[in-house]
Amino acid sequence: MIDIRKAEHEAVSWGIPLTDYMELQIRIRGTVDVFGDSTLNDAPEESWREAVADVLIEHGLIPKGNRFLQCSKFAHLFRCEGAEAHKLFSPIYCDLRFCPRCAPRQFARLLSKYEPILRAVSAERKPGFRLREITLTSVNLGGLTASQIRKFNEAVKRTLKRLMKKVKGWGAIWCDEVGFDNTNLHAHMLFWGPYISQPLLAEVWNQVSGHQVVWIKEAKGRGAGALLYLLKYVSKPPTNDPRAVGLLEVAFHKTRRIHAVGLFHNFAGNDPDNEFSEWSCCPHCGADIVKEMGAPRIEKAILEGRTFVGTKHTARRKEWVN
Ligand SMILES: [Zn+2]
Ligand SMILES: [Zn+2]
Repeated sequence: MIDIRKAEHEAVSWGIPLTDYMELQIRIRGTVDVFGDSTLNDAPEESWREAVADVLIEHGLIPKGNRFLQCSKFAHLFRCEGAEAHKLFSPIYCDLRFCPRCAPRQFARLLSKYEPILRAVSAERKPGFRLREITLTSVNLGGLTASQIRKFNEAVKRTLKRLMKKVKGWGAIWCDEVGFDNTNLHAHMLFWGPYISQPLLAEVWNQVSGHQVVWIKEAKGRGAGALLYLLKYVSKPPTNDPRAVGLLEVAFHKTRRIHAVGLFHNFAGNDPDNEFSEWSCCPHCGADIVKEMGAPRIEKAILEGRTFVGTKHTARRKEWVN
């Protein structure tokens, strides 16, 4: 199980970003078990991945299916242009939302993206304003589709805007989630703003969406602590059933899962996904790096004594932070 504080501390002492630290942990341990309840290990993972990929391919998502199947098996190779021509490698990830290897990296990025704004609002003393945890639920339709998810998120946004009509300086970030082993679509939200009573929240949610059940309470943690509540849903898939994971990927294809509005909208912070994050020089000597031919198994790249340099696919990451 990863201790985030310790991870951050180690990342700093190693001089690498938290995301790279998490990637390294994934390489070393197979998966990063963020909450101590991971059930996957390497041998069954192969057939589990095949079953998920089958669902993606059945639904026409053939490149995604193949990416999911091959996640973390191969590496891109790089070489620096310095005198010593240092050899480097970067694992080829699938970057799918519900991939047990990629989800923890997603988690690390979101954490570093939203931590500064949450720390800032936690330090602010605005009368009546608090960090609150909100859950908005919808009726289970027995399945999940992209249009259903979009409609749901639109309703969440309209509900907040109606409630906060005359309020300034509020913000919210939420994550779409389904229940463990079911298709109950709901939103877990971290909300910064004034007091909202449960009945009022329920009334507006019902008017806007037609759905009923809501829940609101003051957030337990502050800053990153409050984020953990929200982001734990990002760091691991809501089910171990490969068919269900495949159907989630299909439903969320080209559909955002994380949403930020108000004060939290477009907050870049020290987001390692932002445009300055791409590493472009050698970690040993600072020289420029160039890509080499081939994409061997990761084990081979490691045995060649290559240095791990994190992922280089920042474009895909951006589209994937969702
Ligand atoms: Zn992956
Ligand atoms: Zn070098």
